[in-house]
Amino acid sequence: MVVKFFDSLIRWYQHQPSTHRFNQVAYSVLLAGFAGLIAAPAKAARLESWQFNPSQNQLEITTDAGVQPKAQLVADPTRLVIDLPGIVLGRPVINESMSGTVRSMRIGQFDRDTTRIVIELAPGYTLEPSQIKFRGITDRRWVIKLPTPKLASSSTKPAIAVVPQSSLDSRPNESGLAAIESVELNGSSDQLMIQANKPIRYTSRWDRSLAAYRIEISPAQLGNSVKEPELGAGSPISRIKLRQENAQTVAVLVQPASGIQLGQMNQPSQRLVTLQVQRPRVVPATNTTSPRVMSVFNPAVANIPMPRSPNGRVVVMIDPGHGGPDPGAVGVNGLQEKVIVLDISNQVAALLQRQGVQALLTRADDRDLDLEPRVQMAEQSNATVFVSIHANAISLSRPEVNGLETYYHESGLGLAQTIHQNVLQFTGVRDRGVRKARFYVLRKTSMPSVLVEVGFVTGRDDASRLSNPAYRTQMADAIARGILQYLQRAARL
Ligand SMILES: [Zn+2]
Repeated sequence: MVVKFFDSLIRWYQHQPSTHRFNQVAYSVLLAGFAGLIAAPAKAARLESWQFNPSQNQLEITTDAGVQPKAQLVADPTRLVIDLPGIVLGRPVINESMSGTVRSMRIGQFDRDTTRIVIELAPGYTLEPSQIKFRGITDRRWVIKLPTPKLASSSTKPAIAVVPQSSLDSRPNESGLAAIESVELNGSSDQLMIQANKPIRYTSRWDRSLAAYRIEISPAQLGNSVKEPELGAGSPISRIKLRQENAQTVAVLVQPASGIQLGQMNQPSQRLVTLQVQRPRVVPATNTTSPRVMSVFNPAVANIPMPRSPNGRVVVMIDPGHGGPDPGAVGVNGLQEKVIVLDISNQVAALLQRQGVQALLTRADDRDLDLEPRVQMAEQSNATVFVSIHANAISLSRPEVNGLETYYHESGLGLAQTIHQNVLQFTGVRDRGVRKARFYVLRKTSMPSVLVEVGFVTGRDDASRLSNPAYRTQMADAIARGILQYLQRAARL
């Protein structure tokens, strides 16, 4: 689902925690008196979302950069004060009142670059500081769990108790983080091989500011003995840098030698990521690496081979809509758009890679991502085409509304038609047409770009099919076919 308002409104919407999460909680925004406190440096990291669940006494916060919270417990009335150094709120003080033993939550700018969150208990109640648990889902996302507040006896009331550091450091992956053990250039296969001791995930993109290809690996830390590989004369790579970007992310920056093209990335095993450093040799036409489609919905098309990549550098940016605190459309049985489109998008990217196209994802996991960086990623990687994948919604009382819609703006018409036709043919979804629209990601991208609404999560037919992993695989297959067919045709022009 796409919010069809002005860009600024879309961004605003994406950064709001959904108010329905605060059910039964009245909240108010105090504007007066704090305006001078919120002046912020332009590039500062922000508090993106927060959500207090009163039934579990649990606060969840997301920031757009890594943060190490600091906390203290203050008495009269008892309140937990959480400071987020380096984080700017960028908005007026927020004050949410609650009924129960937790009485209110306030969020404000403590100083120029510290956001402060205060969770205040009802009078007479207190917390055991050692039982307050900070859990880092990532270094940008923290869950703060409070013990059940207890009525304080007058003798145990602390004036100020610093929350034990150990309860702040309990990052779940701290001990379980993968260590990058080696980064080596394998001369015989022209591959850069990044090996870890535990499963890892990666994202990659061209980093124009560093003139390097950036591979980010997480959750991971640099191993003790890992070294940047020695690159002799004639090496296809002129420079490799390894950096610990933040607590859980390692960046590998790769500068190709002149005349060398970087090829596709692969993950042959969960602990190994490879980057082809020369263009892959041409695969013979008889090679049948096309995956067999699980064609439970349209058996007649099961064995049509997937088109291969045209020659030349082709980069496809796949953009799964929504993510993180923004579920997108929510439909039948709580079916969430963000989940469906991520699964489909990951599969589209993998299928394209297998066919020799460099496919990149704006997000490869469940994370919050604004519209602007999605466009930036496409521009920075100089993508050939941009394909945003969404699912549609209308009221749950309209289960009869089902079908595929594909949107384009200006140069994306041909791409939209080709994808649309393939999806209709290979999935049998109902046809709701190719349409022109001024969506942000379509307007702001300079390459042909489309937005595919794969079906309605509120539709009787679509919801049951989109809940089925086999159908999502089939949808991904059809979208990948459409993209490849378009690229082949475009290459022939
Ligand atoms: Zn959407």
